[in-house]
Amino acid sequence: MESIRVSAVVKKFGAVTALDGVSVEVDAGELFFLLGASGCGKTTLLRCIAGLETPTSGQIRFGEKEVSSLPPHKREAAMVFQSYALWPHLNVERNVAFGLEERKVSKEEIRRRVGEALELVHLSGMGDRGIDQLSGGQQQRVALARALVVRPKCLLLDEPLSNLDAKLRIEMRREIRRIVKEGGLTGIYVTHDQEEALAMADRMAIMNGGRIEQLGRPEEIYRQPRSAYVAGFIGETNLIKGRVIGVKDGDVMAETPVGVMVGQTADESWTPSDGETVLLSIRPEAWNIGDGDRDNGVEGKVTERSYLGQCIQYVVSTAAGMQHVVELNPLKLHERGETSIRLSVRRTDVVVLKD
Ligand code: ADP
Ligand code: MG
Repeated sequence: MESIRVSAVVKKFGAVTALDGVSVEVDAGELFFLLGASGCGKTTLLRCIAGLETPTSGQIRFGEKEVSSLPPHKREAAMVFQSYALWPHLNVERNVAFGLEERKVSKEEIRRRVGEALELVHLSGMGDRGIDQLSGGQQQRVALARALVVRPKCLLLDEPLSNLDAKLRIEMRREIRRIVKEGGLTGIYVTHDQEEALAMADRMAIMNGGRIEQLGRPEEIYRQPRSAYVAGFIGETNLIKGRVIGVKDGDVMAETPVGVMVGQTADESWTPSDGETVLLSIRPEAWNIGDGDRDNGVEGKVTERSYLGQCIQYVVSTAAGMQHVVELNPLKLHERGETSIRLSVRRTDVVVLKD
């Protein structure tokens, strides 16, 4: 177990700046996520941490040790790739042993450690199997075992589940978290799948254009997004444009197409000024159908209704555009086409963002 500290890392590929001054501290034993749209620099950052790329500038430390100039195998970090990168002509055991054979570990020690690694990924007794005799999920486990067999302190995972079908992906989420925690590892996990990140992460960083846009625990990022990009990337949100007409005791009042609404900012370093254009972010489940005892009321018309068993999704047409609404109490059914429905939302559930 070891902390990982990345300080002001810049990585340029010719004219392309893949990382534009990234700083992040991952605690020892933490499962940390890097999340963001394709091309935002996630893989490049992971490869810099692994030692597969050299930063143009900046520092990377494992614990107290500066590792920027160390080759990958001296960093005590192992990487699992999206493609698994297994040898199709070698059996499971040889695939897992590969990294140790390169490091000149004795035969007996290799056998013991391969056994341990296979046990940790729940593949004991499968050592003789050919790679082509395994399911996608089992191949993923072999790739994990091959990373674990060198006894790394840090496990770096680049979209490890993207080749699996939906059901297996969900099963493997639990497995990977278990492996990181049972193995006493520090994990950094790259994905563009926000649900995976919310479900698995201790903390996460949302990247955008080679920078970290926000960093925090899943519930902080979801409830207190600091930009429209983060709000839209993590979960679904409704954005209503408004013009600020007053700020008082942390409440921001804004004129919107559906009248004056009250919300709050999540970013302590920013207070909007009168006349400024802002975006009000409202999560689908923060809307309440009916007046309720809430701060903001909006008129609308139900245009779509989907009954999903555990919840109902509505699309409600308002003067501020279509609002996506999730009603978590499926007993509260409203018919499609019902006129003059009212939506309401608490001021604490309206996050005011920079436009
Ligand atoms: P992500 O993993 O978030 O999709 P990457 O880290 O792979 O993003 O890429 C970030 C940016 O750096 C992209 O614009 C990509 O085209 C560029 N890039 C990545 N690797 C290289 C490379 N080896 N040579 C040139 N450009 C690269
Ligand atoms: Mg990538």
